Amino acid sequence: QAEVDPTKKTIVVLGSGWASTSFLKAVDTDEYNVVVVSPRNYFLFTPLLPSCTVGTVDVRSLVEPIRFITRHKSRDVKVYEAECTDIDPDNKVITIVDNSDVKGTKAQSTINYDYLVIGVGAQNQTFGIKGVQEYGCFLKEVWDAQKIRSRLMDCIETAGFPGQAPEEVERLLHMVVVGGGPSGIEYAAELHDFLIDDLTTWYPDLVGKLKITLVEALPNVLPAFSKQLIDYTESTFKEQNITIHTKTMVKEVREKEIVVQRPDGKQDTIPFGLLVWATGNTSRPLIRDLMAKFPESQTVRRGLAVDDWLRLEGSESIFALGDATATKYAPTAQVAAQQGKYLARLFHQMSTRDELESQIAAGSAEDRAKKERKLQKAKDIKPFEYSHQGSLCYVGSDKAIADLPFGPGNLASGGVATYAFWRSAYISNLFSGRNRALVITDWLKKTAMGRDISRE
Ligand code: FAD
Ligand code: NAD
Repeated sequence: QAEVDPTKKTIVVLGSGWASTSFLKAVDTDEYNVVVVSPRNYFLFTPLLPSCTVGTVDVRSLVEPIRFITRHKSRDVKVYEAECTDIDPDNKVITIVDNSDVKGTKAQSTINYDYLVIGVGAQNQTFGIKGVQEYGCFLKEVWDAQKIRSRLMDCIETAGFPGQAPEEVERLLHMVVVGGGPSGIEYAAELHDFLIDDLTTWYPDLVGKLKITLVEALPNVLPAFSKQLIDYTESTFKEQNITIHTKTMVKEVREKEIVVQRPDGKQDTIPFGLLVWATGNTSRPLIRDLMAKFPESQTVRRGLAVDDWLRLEGSESIFALGDATATKYAPTAQVAAQQGKYLARLFHQMSTRDELESQIAAGSAEDRAKKERKLQKAKDIKPFEYSHQGSLCYVGSDKAIADLPFGPGNLASGGVATYAFWRSAYISNLFSGRNRALVITDWLKKTAMGRDISRE
């Protein structure tokens, strides 16, 4: 049981992703009672998730139980595996629900908070397009990568079923990716590597038959990268026989085909065996409900509006960070992690301020003057400032691209050397030594023995 100190304020943290975990790592539990609520009891290192869809890396290598992360804290952190379904800002209470498969006699409860830190991330954007939820695969969580891997192998095995008609084989072996952002590009790249490294060995009959197509609504892929790297990615994909349809918008998803609108405005269908949907983020229902409770201050549809100190516009006791918010920054792990670290510092300063305020009247005049100076310092809380470390993306065939800040401009690079940098950057960013050892082992295993092609 967590030791709840009635003299300390309680911070309830929602989520165990990049934002919340980075906050948890840095928050001082001597200063606050800390409670975590998340429907998954682990942190997931998302940048390597595309590698799990074909078995380059095992999903278990990318997760870290939240209790491993909080175990070094000076006081216990209570972790509840549950989903927050309602936030009542007036009474400072949240409702939580056990939404796992196994439920006890009690599966709903409430928790009071003094401060609420919202790091629930976002959900997959579908734009309400018919059929996406039913027939598409997303790529956000561990189970998404497992589902993609399983479906991929199922399509391949079914294509080899005796007497399968040639046009059905063609459809089953057509892997379509919707969305040319970094998620879609990295997935297509990993799939290509699997095709070249493993499919040729284990399914020689299917060589040349498996096709990858990426559909993007905009005129080019990776709009956030520099022109030079967009060109490099598109030409690398061409060399890898990955077809890119730009200026092509998916309008509907059916069980075995997508309906697209071509650049000339005409509609067309593209049959698929596996469809991966990667068209970005939208707010979770919990966030939309909370926004509706602040109709005056929460008017940005993209997510929660926060001030420069990550405080929710309209509330003194709620803070929000990461993909759940609508800020000037892109929804990335880099931003979320920096915000988490910043917020822990802000809470430390608030605790120092509160303590000094409670003691300021005591002591000699000299003492009081000293405390007053310290208090002024504690009250001077700097706003959050993001420091961009660069953008990386894997493009297949052991090549990556990097857009790195360099002096007043940018350094753009692409190729095999950049892939070595990509690998070392991800290894050093992995949360623990345990994850680092596991990922390096997975890479070595893949090089020595190839990927495991058994269906999950
Ligand atoms: P998340 O990490 O999504 O965490 C949200 C947490 O909230 C989860 O633990 C979830 O279970 C929990 N939660 C959800 N609903 C509730 C609820 N109702 N109550 C309580 N908890 C809840 N960014 C980069 O900077 N570099 C990359 O290379 C990169 N690669 C990526 C690759 C992929 C495939 C994907 C999908 C994203 C990638 N990103 C990358 C983006 C990055 O993962 C996100 O920006 C980041 O995860 C956002 O952090 P977050 O903490 O806000 O949300
Ligand atoms: P995204 O928002 O970056 O890209 C989605 C793409 O889908 C857009 O280019 C959009 O034009 C396209 N699209 C939308 N609707 C469409 C439709 N109906 N038909 C065809 N195309 C359509 O999404 P993402 O790639 O999932 O990335 C989400 C966030 O995570 C971004 O901030 C990204 O930077 C970050 N991320 C970063 C990395 C990395 O740094 N390597 C990897 C993955 C994700």
